[in-house]
Amino acid sequence: MPNRAFRLVRQSPHAASFGTEGANVGISDLAAASRSQFRRSLRLAALASLTLAASQPAAAQSILRDAETEAMFADMAAPLVKAAGMDPKTVKVVLINDDEINAFTAGGQTIYVNSGLIAAADNANQVQGVIAHELGHIADGHVVLANEGVRPAMGIQILSIVLGIAAAAAGGGEAAAGIMAAGQQAALGNYLAYSRTTEATADATGAKFLREAGITGQGMLDFFKKLQAQEAYWSATGKLDPFMQNHPLTGERIADLSADIQASPAFHTKPDAALNVRFLRVRAKLQGFVAPAKDTLGKYPVSDQSIYAHYARAYAYHKSGFPEQADAEATALVTAQPDDPYFEEIRGQILLEAGRPRDALAPLRRAVDGSRDAPLIATTLGHALIATEDKANYPEAERVLRVAVARDDDNPFGWYQLGQVYALQGDDARAALATAEQASLTGNTKIAAFTARNAMAGIPQNSPDWFRAQDIAMTNQNELDDGRKHKH
Ligand SMILES: [Zn+2]
Repeated sequence: MPNRAFRLVRQSPHAASFGTEGANVGISDLAAASRSQFRRSLRLAALASLTLAASQPAAAQSILRDAETEAMFADMAAPLVKAAGMDPKTVKVVLINDDEINAFTAGGQTIYVNSGLIAAADNANQVQGVIAHELGHIADGHVVLANEGVRPAMGIQILSIVLGIAAAAAGGGEAAAGIMAAGQQAALGNYLAYSRTTEATADATGAKFLREAGITGQGMLDFFKKLQAQEAYWSATGKLDPFMQNHPLTGERIADLSADIQASPAFHTKPDAALNVRFLRVRAKLQGFVAPAKDTLGKYPVSDQSIYAHYARAYAYHKSGFPEQADAEATALVTAQPDDPYFEEIRGQILLEAGRPRDALAPLRRAVDGSRDAPLIATTLGHALIATEDKANYPEAERVLRVAVARDDDNPFGWYQLGQVYALQGDDARAALATAEQASLTGNTKIAAFTARNAMAGIPQNSPDWFRAQDIAMTNQNELDDGRKHKH
């Protein structure tokens, strides 16, 4: 079996470093990863073979980025966020690659949902119930209040991994594939163990949002009951999932929630069936990508010809280095539902990473169109266009990548690709600016400041790009100066 060096970065199941002590991810390892990525972007020999994936720190948390999952989360959260009187654009739901059942907030308006919670949920309505509860914490200001006097926010960087990009290091001339380096800044030191009181009020607030959005709270109740039923077993085995450590479930709490939810006029409203299909797809692809391939093939044997099974197997084969089997599964998906952008996306990714970038272009273009320019998919298309090594494709690559980075403020891999295409076209100043953006996003302040100043030297003064370069140079220089001061 080919051993493709990519592996997912995950915590050991019992490490619990995500808990109240939080914060102890391998920051220096991440910085080293960014540096090596930078050296690559300096080389600008666009498609050298890379070995970043093999050296990922074992203890780091990772965020899984996936256009389909993020769109689903946004649609799950939007009616609840509106019911909360907040702007859906300001609340993000982010997927964490961690098989423990957990969801949490960490200050700000981001809700983190573990892949383990998606795997454990039976339907979309249950996940929506969990999101409602977490939104309850945010709306009730629990994090903000409890932060006072606890500890200052710590900027912890988390690796971002693009779901489906499997074989970063496997040769074939693919650049910098899955690892987006340390993209996210999250204040995980603020991750709190809530008290019974705050739990109860978050339940009540979450239930209110569900009611006002006309969504049944049945799933919220079912999911919490399911966790409670497993609580005794888990505590007996010494493995209590963090969701329960941090969201203590008591009989009283469930009874109160139950009364609240059953009193809602929306209680008997049927959950959104289309949203549930989207959830089942996401759950299947996550299973394929996150779990060991043999588990996926056990759960979705080849005899299972459902969409979900094809989807799970496509990811499982893809990440394990079986491009032909992966392509066959993806082709089955595209044949069954020709207009589906996410099926086209995985098909394109498989072809791209199998060293067939030209063949990947058509499916990826359809995926970009069908997803209304989803930035992550557009980034993959940009990558494929560059990988053709055909000059005629560079202007299109530049165009799609510019749109992608403009619409996704956390896309260091998009900036990396954009830097490549500028350099390939001889625009060294903008290549430097793109590198500065990438370095700034990945917390590499020294390189960000340096390359931003280089960019300023080559870009017409007082143009928007020049101001942007100046901004990056100043921000990162300030951070550098602060860092120096703290050392004394
Ligand atoms: Zn809670």
